[in-house]
Amino acid sequence: MILKDKNILVLGIANHRSIAYAIAKFCNEQGANICLTFQNERLRRNAEKLAKDFGEGTLLLPCDVTVEEEVAGLFAEIGKRWERLDGLVHSIAFANQEDLKGDYVDTSRDGWLMAQEISAFSLTQLARHAKDLMKDGGSIICMSYLGGERVVQNYNVMGVAKASLEMSARYLAHNLGPHGIRVNIVSPGPIKTLAASAVAGLKSILDDVRERNPLRRNVSQEDVAKVSAFLLSDLSTAVTGETIHVDAGYHTIGM
Ligand code: NAD
Repeated sequence: MILKDKNILVLGIANHRSIAYAIAKFCNEQGANICLTFQNERLRRNAEKLAKDFGEGTLLLPCDVTVEEEVAGLFAEIGKRWERLDGLVHSIAFANQEDLKGDYVDTSRDGWLMAQEISAFSLTQLARHAKDLMKDGGSIICMSYLGGERVVQNYNVMGVAKASLEMSARYLAHNLGPHGIRVNIVSPGPIKTLAASAVAGLKSILDDVRERNPLRRNVSQEDVAKVSAFLLSDLSTAVTGETIHVDAGYHTIGM
């Protein structure tokens, strides 16, 4: 029970395949109280069903990160229900499907800005609100991908957003460290989820990664959840500004 009585906010559940779902489930099994969010009315009903997996005290609140009032409302509501917040999981990303194939050079202004706003700026926005509720310090994690460090075919605009997300996490780690708040990056290998399916050629990426990485397998949502729980727990109290690759070692190999 490495997260006993911790209050953890998890953003990014769309369905049972979502990385956020696995993180919330594992954290809950490790003793944490969970607050889940849903992005819009279309996802509400599914989120309500999924929330039943997390026990009676689970909070479920709306939050589209592009709507500032919804973000403020989310934290105001959490402030009323919980005496403090201990953890925040940012597992959110979005880009237009046409920007996740072909050449990066063809990315439109609108597509670029939207990917940055939803996938990267939102971490800074959420951290700013979380800071006030993390009265005893806390742990913030976000999900990145190797395509934010190196060029990965078709990842394009999302790779640039992930680079921005990762650097934001490091600046936030510096800003929030004096408040006892840690900020870390988890960088999973490819996993077949709703968001990943938008990237052209996902199947061949999964096959290539499995054939070439040291462990010769793909990673699962549960692999990511275990490392996330470690970063959210007091087992990692001196770790901040760090990136942990949960990719079966793929990031270590050359061309
Ligand atoms: P997913 O589709 O299950 O989750 C993406 C989530 O982002 C959804 O819940 C969606 O509702 C949310 N979202 C999108 N726009 C939003 C907005 N405006 N406001 C609030 N929420 C919004 O896919 P996933 O693979 O679980 O993705 C979770 C995170 O993991 C993302 O940051 C993704 O880039 C990252 N990641 C995924 C993989 C992978 O291969 N699946 C690999 C590395 C990193």
